[in-house]
Amino acid sequence: MSATAEPSIFTRIIQGEIPADVVFDSERIIAFRDIAPKAPLHLLIVPKTDRFANVTELAAEDPALLAEIVAVAQNLATEYSGGEYRLIFNTGRSVGQTVFHVHAHLLGGLLPEGTLGE
Ligand code: 5GP
Repeated sequence: MSATAEPSIFTRIIQGEIPADVVFDSERIIAFRDIAPKAPLHLLIVPKTDRFANVTELAAEDPALLAEIVAVAQNLATEYSGGEYRLIFNTGRSVGQTVFHVHAHLLGGLLPEGTLGE
């Protein structure tokens, strides 16, 4: 984050300024329920660092942290949704990214037919 940028909504959740329904919290990652769920299970898995705007930057600069997100996704899907899941990283405004602090959408349960989970 640059010195002048406002903290992202996710940074404010991580800092406890905004409440969230947190389901996982570790040294580097937090996960909580999406405020507007698009599937029976819809969690957001978010690295605590605000260094990366999207998954491309994360993969290039800290692939181990990306792998940790995938492992957390599997564990949460096992705990909350029978172990199967869909992982989405919106990357860019034109495909619907609204928060530029990298995050994975973990979707589970029956998704709307004929869609990619919108
Ligand atoms: P994006 O569109 O950037 O991939 O995803 C941002 C997600 O954050 C959206 O699905 C939106 O519903 C969720 N979101 C936005 N503000 C909040 C909030 O204050 N709390 C929670 N739990 N989710 C939020």
